[in-house]
Amino acid sequence: MLLKIDHVSKTYGKDRKKALDEFTAELSAGVYALLGPNGAGKSTLMNIITDNLRQDSGSVLYDGENTAAMGKRFRQILGFMPQQQGVYDDFTAARFLWYMASLKGLSRAEAKQRIPELLEQMNLSDAANKKLGSFSGGMKQRILIAQALLNNPQVLILDEPTAGLDPKERIRIRNLISEIAFDKIVIFATHVVSDIEYIAKEILMLKQGRLIFKGPIDELLLSISGKVFETVVPREQAEKLQTSYCVSGISSLAGGIKVRFLSEEPPKLPDCHSVEPTLEDVYLYHFNE
Ligand code: ADP
Ligand code: MG
Repeated sequence: MLLKIDHVSKTYGKDRKKALDEFTAELSAGVYALLGPNGAGKSTLMNIITDNLRQDSGSVLYDGENTAAMGKRFRQILGFMPQQQGVYDDFTAARFLWYMASLKGLSRAEAKQRIPELLEQMNLSDAANKKLGSFSGGMKQRILIAQALLNNPQVLILDEPTAGLDPKERIRIRNLISEIAFDKIVIFATHVVSDIEYIAKEILMLKQGRLIFKGPIDELLLSISGKVFETVVPREQAEKLQTSYCVSGISSLAGGIKVRFLSEEPPKLPDCHSVEPTLEDVYLYHFNE
């Protein structure tokens, strides 16, 4: 099971900057987090992989075969939850899944077996006959994940499945993704660093259409090792620090202001020490402009 994205580029309109610039990566079974701020090109990449958007150049291959040529055969092993997908408020959860199952060409027997299974897995069995209009944000996201899983896909693409959710629901979605990831290639997009902790096998970091990092979290943290510092200074000096460094945290202490900041070189400040990087530091390091 190998998904190869090979030098894929995409520009919208005329003479515009590239939304996706020579994106190349090889993905095997496991969870990949596609991390990047709004506008980085996450949805563009996902829409291309799922054949909802045509790239200008480059190709997507599944086990060596061009997915565009595979056509229906690729769609059969693909599950997709697009960003900001609407639901039909008047449909019940079960009816929505039956409807999606028929669009995807599942047989009646398959749907009859699969739908209760998925409702159970997404913790929505009790809400099976409730209208989607009455669902919370987290429940809506879960029913949308469920529809992406109807055909038991080998490649699952989730575009910001945690968008707009509170921390508890985010954790729940995160755990669900881990559970369903077994033996699948799962790619999920997010711009929230806490989403990628624990579950992602690798992080794909996207900046202005370019893949700037691919690897496990440890490696990502290591990439800015020795570049994060903390110091305690008087209030006036804290303000000055903010103008010369990228500051990732500030807190008031009895003896002054504790400032956490990023610096390529060890700064020449008294009582300043290097600290272990966090994912937030990494994010700021790469995306703070
Ligand atoms: P993300 O999902 O990471 O927020 P997108 O893939 O949606 O990023 O967008 C990447 C870039 O492409 C952005 O600069 C965005 O404005 C631009 N873009 C996306 N969709 C379109 C479109 N349909 N027409 C023109 N520009 C677009
Ligand atoms: Mg997007």
